Amino acid sequence: MPRPIEALIHTDALAHNILRARAAAPDAKVWAIVKADAYGHGIERAYAGLQAADGFALLDLAEAERIRALGWRGPVLLLEGCFDARDLELCSRLDLWHTVHREAQIDWLAAHKTQRPHHVFLKMNSGMNRLGFAPAAYRSAWLRLSGLTQVESIVLSTHFSDADAARGIAEQWACFEAVARDLPGERSVCNSAATLRFAPAEATVRGDWIRPGIMVYGSAPDYPAHDIAAWDLQATMTLRTELIATQELQRGDSVGYGSTFTAEGAMRIGVAACGYADGYPRLAPTGTPVLVDGVRARLVGRVSMDMVTIDLTPVPQAAIGSEVTLWGRGPNGSVLAIDEPAHAAGTVGYELMCGLAPRVPTRALG
Ligand SMILES: *Cc1c(COP(=O)(O)O)cnc(C)c1O
Repeated sequence: MPRPIEALIHTDALAHNILRARAAAPDAKVWAIVKADAYGHGIERAYAGLQAADGFALLDLAEAERIRALGWRGPVLLLEGCFDARDLELCSRLDLWHTVHREAQIDWLAAHKTQRPHHVFLKMNSGMNRLGFAPAAYRSAWLRLSGLTQVESIVLSTHFSDADAARGIAEQWACFEAVARDLPGERSVCNSAATLRFAPAEATVRGDWIRPGIMVYGSAPDYPAHDIAAWDLQATMTLRTELIATQELQRGDSVGYGSTFTAEGAMRIGVAACGYADGYPRLAPTGTPVLVDGVRARLVGRVSMDMVTIDLTPVPQAAIGSEVTLWGRGPNGSVLAIDEPAHAAGTVGYELMCGLAPRVPTRALG
C-alpha cells in the first residue's frame, strides 16, 4: 500500500472563487493567474475549475504552451513578458499577450516579423520597484509602442506592493493615474488584495482587467485581518494523510528531534505521515492547528522529514488510520484554511501551496 498521504484539488472551489472575483469587479474581465503551475495546484488539474475566467496569466513560456495544449483559445498573458527576442516567435505562434516593462522588449518587438499584431501590457513602476517603466518614461514608451505595426493594443498596467496591508494603494494609484489618465487603452491594476479590498468601491481601480491569483486558490490575501470565510472564499487544495502510530506519554516525556516538546502530564499523541519533504513547513511550531477526524488539534514537537506529531487530547477516539488534514477540507464539512498553518509557521498560504512536494500524489476532484 502506498503511504497514505495525498493532495486533492477542488475544482468546484476554484470555480466558486473565480465567481467571487467577478462579483467584486462585475464590469471587469478576469485573468486567472496560473503562474507557478497554478500556485502549486497543477495547471491541468486546476483548468476545469477556471473555465469562467476570461484569460490565463503566467510567466513561464512552457506553461503558456500547456494552456494552449489544453485547448484554451482565449487570451494568455506573459506577466514578465519576453526574456529574449526569440520568445516573440512563440508569442506570435501561440497568440500570447505579453508584458513590456523595459526598453529592450520594445526594440525586440520593433524588429519582430509577424502577420498578427500583438496585444501588449505596458507596465509602469508606480513604486514597487521590481518591474516597469518609471512614470516619467512611461508616456514615451507608450508612444514608441503605439507607433509599431507589430502592436495591436496596449493595456496600461501596474502592480501594487501593499494592497493587502495598512499602506494600501492610494500612493501608487495616484502615481499611475497621473500618467495613465491622458492615455487611451484598457487598464489593469488589481491583484487579489486590491480586488477584494478596493475594487468593489472604485470603478476606476477595477479597470478593464483584474488579476486575481491567491484568492482563486482559497487563501485570504490579508490574513489574519480577514480569513477565507470572511471573504467568502473556499479552500481549493487539501493536504491529508493518516495516523500511522500513536504513543502514550507520561509527564516529562518529550517528542521528536531536539526534544522541543515535553509532556506536562499523561497524554496521547498521534504520528501522521507528512513532513517537510511533502511540503509541510518545518518551522510550524508546537500549537500549529491540524484536523484529526475533522476535529481541531495541535502539532507538538518538531516537524520531521516524513512525520509530524499531534496532541490527541481533543480527539480521544483517534486511532491508527484516523484522517489527518494538514490544510483544506476535512471530514464532516470541516475546513482548515491553508492560511492557519502558514501563519503559524511565519509564512503565507502562497508559499505552502507552491511548495507542495512532487512526491505527494495529487488528483483533482470535481
Ligand atoms: C502574481 C501576480 C498577480 C496575482 O497576485 P495575487 O496576490 O496572487 O492575487 C497579479 N499581477 C501580477 C503582475 C502578478 O505577478
